[in-house]
Amino acid sequence: MTNFTELAAKNPCEGCPAPCCQMQVLPWVPPKNLMGIDHILFCLQFPGTEFIVSEAGEFSIVKWAMCSLFNEKKCICSVHSTPKQPLTCVHFNPYQCWYKRNFVDVVTSPNIYRLNLERYAVWVKKIEFNDDHTITAFPSFQEAQELLKDIPIEPTFKKDNSLKKALNHEAVNVI
Ligand code: SF4
Ligand code: SF4
Repeated sequence: MTNFTELAAKNPCEGCPAPCCQMQVLPWVPPKNLMGIDHILFCLQFPGTEFIVSEAGEFSIVKWAMCSLFNEKKCICSVHSTPKQPLTCVHFNPYQCWYKRNFVDVVTSPNIYRLNLERYAVWVKKIEFNDDHTITAFPSFQEAQELLKDIPIEPTFKKDNSLKKALNHEAVNVI
């Protein structure tokens, strides 16, 4: 148990290996037909690419690559609290961090399912099409999570309490 004062004094990024600084998540128009599904397969051939699908059926492409401003050794943002930090990072709220919730210390991400080539091969068999190539049904979010849960996907992240990120310090990693 902990109290408000103790919690408020802590950096919510404490111990987090910062997947937020190592991935780009870009919205993707949900596939509607055979070619849309094939386009995902095409993109997955490129290293460092995966797709994620939310419970609401929103698709995103993920590019796994480290931000050039990330100090990997210290696991902190090298430009935190300076004019060089993009506003996207400045205004991100780490207290409700979607990245940590879905990529750190999880076996199955709660808000998304993740697709790499191996998972795609299983997932694609559950999509139903009309004769004109349009999609008539995707597996539900729960079905897809169940279908994919035992197929490994990398990267995964683990909390590391040795990663110190003090509050209000110029080298804090808060995006
Ligand atoms: S914002 Fe903080 S808690 Fe969220 S992933 Fe980045 S380092 Fe981790
Ligand atoms: S917080 Fe810093 S290191 Fe992380 S993505 Fe933003 S600019 Fe890059």
